[in-house]
Amino acid sequence: MIDINKIRTDFPILAREVYGKPLVYLDNAATTQKPQCVMDKITEMYSTVNSNVHRGVHYLSQAATDKHEAARKTVQRFINANIPEEIVFTRGATESINLVASSFCRSFCKEGDEILITAMEHHSNIVPWQIQADIRGLKIKVIPINKDGELIMEEFEKLISPRTKLIAATHISNVLGTINPIDEIIRIAHSHNIPVLIDAAQSVQHAKVDVQKIDCDFLVFSSHKIYGPTGVGVLYGKEEWLNALPPYQGGGEMIESVSFEKTTFNKLPFKFEAGTPDFVGTAALATALDYVSSIGLDNIAEYESDLLRYATEKMLNLPGIKIIGTAQHKSSVISFVFNKIHPYDIGTLLDKMGIAVRTGHHCAEPLMKIMGVEGTVRASFAFYNTKEEVDMLVKGLERIIKMF
Ligand code: PMP
Repeated sequence: MIDINKIRTDFPILAREVYGKPLVYLDNAATTQKPQCVMDKITEMYSTVNSNVHRGVHYLSQAATDKHEAARKTVQRFINANIPEEIVFTRGATESINLVASSFCRSFCKEGDEILITAMEHHSNIVPWQIQADIRGLKIKVIPINKDGELIMEEFEKLISPRTKLIAATHISNVLGTINPIDEIIRIAHSHNIPVLIDAAQSVQHAKVDVQKIDCDFLVFSSHKIYGPTGVGVLYGKEEWLNALPPYQGGGEMIESVSFEKTTFNKLPFKFEAGTPDFVGTAALATALDYVSSIGLDNIAEYESDLLRYATEKMLNLPGIKIIGTAQHKSSVISFVFNKIHPYDIGTLLDKMGIAVRTGHHCAEPLMKIMGVEGTVRASFAFYNTKEEVDMLVKGLERIIKMF
């Protein structure tokens, strides 16, 4: 059970007002707010152990290293990776995908090879593959979706060819909220010996993700979308895959030995962590993950799906509304449009009422084209949102409809 009153006091920003109105924050798919314990951890790190990690023999360096490596173990437990070395810290989901795209394609792709993605990918799971496609003459193929925004799985199998080298798919769409059947995607891909990268940027904060159970080869997510600090991300990779990939960036930390003639590289995970990592951020991410675990992902999933049901029902009563993304399995995201009212106008007017939503293409321009819209308004819910806030959104939209 979610104790909503207690939870809301954990997030100080939720008590603030904007334009003299209580803040209603419904832009959680873009970034989540931070509980006090995460902010306290950042202060604690800087005020008690700040020192560069992995290199120093002195007390503070050792203490900072311990916290950073403990954070790796927390992430390992959170997604049930086999060993901590399978967890690589990055700057975010975007950098994690760029790392895999760059290193994987460099080693495993030749001209004419194919990468398979879905029609509902965020730009960060499209463009890194396109960059590699341009460099190496690869082809990008796209798994289509139906009008509800669900993958057409029969087409997926048909798109697999002997040249398919990797499948990169989002677990949950940041626009449609669609929860993709990743178990099935991975099972089918593996029956063809094709590795799979899962973009979990929109899923780890909403439901339990167990990388060993789903058997993905790579999985990425961002700290800031799971109540942790910005600028930190995670790449999970199976040990054998990470060992097989060449380094992504060069620099300190990722080397074993360097001479002007030749460099040998460090072992996992450091081979992929060039330069000083954000050890304050990783420690604070671990605090965020512990916080989420203390509430319980099952409780979060249940609470948020009740909120989604309530909001969908209420919003469907609004005249002229069209919800974009009506998949059977959906996460707590509602994208919508009204005929004759531009999404930007809706977002701006809601803002003046204290309600934060996102408008535009949500970094998924190809998906907008497929769904036949230029952009949408998107309300995305977290476990600290309430039915009263949904009511405020609906009231705000009713006022806007009257204005137009
Ligand atoms: N993938 C998805 C599905 C996302 O929603 C986002 C962020 N909107 C990203 C990747 C990129 O995350 P970040 O900007 O934190 O790297």
